[in-house]
Amino acid sequence: MPPIVIIGAGLAGLYTARLLHAANMPCVVLEARDRIGGRILSVDAHGAPSTDGFDLGPSWFWPQAQPVLAELVQELGLDAFPQASDGDVLFERMSREGPQRFQGYPQEAHSYRVAGGTAALVHAIAEALPTDCVQLSSKVTQLSLETDGIAVQVECNGDAVTMRASHVVAALPPRLLAHAVTFSPAIDEPARIRWSSTPTWMAPHAKFFALYERAFWRDAGLSGTAQSMVGPMPEIHDATTASGQAALFGFIGVGAAQRAAMGEGALTGACMEQLVRMFGAEAGTPRTTLLKDWAADDCTATTEDRVPGGHPVPDPAPWVTGAWAERLVLGGSETSSSEPGYLAGAVTAAQSAARRVLLSASR
Ligand SMILES: Cc1cc2nc3c(=O)[nH]c(=O)nc-3n(C[C@H](O)[C@H](O)[C@H](O)COP(=O)(O)OP(=O)(O)OC[C@H]3O[C@@H](n4cnc5c(N)ncnc54)[C@H](O)[C@@H]3O)c2cc1C
Repeated sequence: MPPIVIIGAGLAGLYTARLLHAANMPCVVLEARDRIGGRILSVDAHGAPSTDGFDLGPSWFWPQAQPVLAELVQELGLDAFPQASDGDVLFERMSREGPQRFQGYPQEAHSYRVAGGTAALVHAIAEALPTDCVQLSSKVTQLSLETDGIAVQVECNGDAVTMRASHVVAALPPRLLAHAVTFSPAIDEPARIRWSSTPTWMAPHAKFFALYERAFWRDAGLSGTAQSMVGPMPEIHDATTASGQAALFGFIGVGAAQRAAMGEGALTGACMEQLVRMFGAEAGTPRTTLLKDWAADDCTATTEDRVPGGHPVPDPAPWVTGAWAERLVLGGSETSSSEPGYLAGAVTAAQSAARRVLLSASR
């Protein structure tokens, strides 16, 4: 029997592969990028993927509200630690006033980070998969339905290759799938419209990091948490790693089109000015800075993601209908019926995709 092809080596695709291998079902994960993780990206001070890194993508999970992810962290033997939040918070109301300082308050449902960076999750899963299960730099361009399976057209390092699969799990955002993959025969129109109109969580966003020799704000009794109505970062947090590499990060509030027009240099300058305004002169001498604009990354975002699209909403209706329903399963986080868009959603979507493929393959 041809293997099951999983499109995308993000958390959802890799976890689906883990579940299928545990059920002795051969599968191959095809990943367009030259790295695993998808929206999960932990990097070192040079911006290179790292196992002791800064999270340019997701940073947090909430063990109380998302036990499925807490269990996976534990199952993989990883450590988690609470987001640093001890100390006062800063608030910047308008540009002509200095920041105000308020007593911090404990979070009710504490957010946690994975030691080593969120990428530790996907690396632990990938390391336990058979060699060659994950093929990098392999972009799926077309799926064609055949009588006994699916022909999968792939661009592999510039070469066009066709693979045959009994089933395909598309573990990528539905909107990206609709945009990047051609279907023969075409997907039913209502399904295609639903895929295209499902926002890819956080795809319109960008994160800025300033890395420091030490977490100087802690000495001043500050938590590193700050909010600003001036910007460019409306929200700033302590991003110091579990190994003690000090950093602050902020979500950039400037829209994707304006970010592209400003360019990385001007954006970095504006973020640094804000950090100095809010945290003082010492904030102006980082050892380096990092910036990741997800809206400009076409392995995550489409042109529709350049404007904020809101959060995907859980909807139990089937994602695939008509001729494709027996062979194609959607399994990216956005398709989760419990936590769409979140890391936890990637896990529950993978559980559901693996269940459906195993059921269909057993018929
Ligand atoms: C800035 C940012 C902050 C976030 N913060 C949080 C947070 O704090 N907590 C949280 O729970 N969630 C957060 N998220 C969301 C979280 O990252 C996602 O829920 C999760 O990573 C989705 O995993 P996934 O595997 O479903 O999709 P993805 O990670 O998007 O993986 C899809 C994979 O498919 C690949 N791919 C795309 N097209 C093709 C193709 N044609 N052929 C082959 N491969 C293809 C991509 O390269 C990618 O590797 C954040 C996201 C971002 C961007």
